[in-house]
Amino acid sequence: LADSRLEENKVKELNQLSVSYNKMLGRLSDAFEVQRQFTANAAHELRTPLALMQVQLDSYNSGQHPGSDADTVQTIKMVTEQNDRLSKMVKTLLDMSELQTVGRDETIMVDALVDEVLADLEPLAREKHVELTGNCEDITIVGSDILIYRLVYNLVENAIKYNHPGGQVTVSAFRKEKCVCLSVADTGNGIPEELRERVFEPFFRVDKSRSRALGGVGLGLALVYEIVRVHDGSITVRPNPSGGTVFEVMFTQ
Ligand code: ADP
Repeated sequence: LADSRLEENKVKELNQLSVSYNKMLGRLSDAFEVQRQFTANAAHELRTPLALMQVQLDSYNSGQHPGSDADTVQTIKMVTEQNDRLSKMVKTLLDMSELQTVGRDETIMVDALVDEVLADLEPLAREKHVELTGNCEDITIVGSDILIYRLVYNLVENAIKYNHPGGQVTVSAFRKEKCVCLSVADTGNGIPEELRERVFEPFFRVDKSRSRALGGVGLGLALVYEIVRVHDGSITVRPNPSGGTVFEVMFTQ
């Protein structure tokens, strides 16, 4: 009887092991699928500007292009734009791959950092007729100054880009219990509910042609998400009660 109990326990243990191996394999294969999808998207996105540049260059090199001044200017403008897009994409991909290696032990004055971002984005806001307001408490967070600057910059840049003329962008920072909360609220287009979580996926865009026309490459929020993650924070996106969108980042300090 003791022997058969022992056997039974062994079988149970083996079954449990097999269930947890299966779970692990499932998680691994999910992770590979995410990686595969990312690589496929990256290759696809990098190919489009390259192919467009190649067509223009081929037509020049084979002498088919009439080469009038207006054509030359147009072609060079187009190749330059595509080149800018590619450089932006490659730079962001590299930034994402290097996130883990950046030091994250600086004490950052949040209001000064927000003021710096707002000053740097003021020319874009003026061009788009959007008003920027900073509303930050006198607080600090510990992290990477350069990465937190990038995080706030990307959120505010989007809040301006996806806004209407005459719109508003408000950046607030305040303490909420043991957390520091940083929020960027805009009065722009808003994001449809079913797509809200997807905006953090690399290369995802609600409106691809609008993003492209605004010089976007679909990696800004993916980088924001990773910066929040390496700082052990969390990020949420919700509709702004007065129209538009609110991105809220929480840091436990
Ligand atoms: P992009 O380079 O296209 O701006 P992002 O990763 O920064 O890429 O953003 C992904 C998509 O999320 C954008 O293309 C846009 O459709 C949407 N989005 C981001 N921020 C906002 C916002 N503040 N209001 C409305 N839509 C936004």
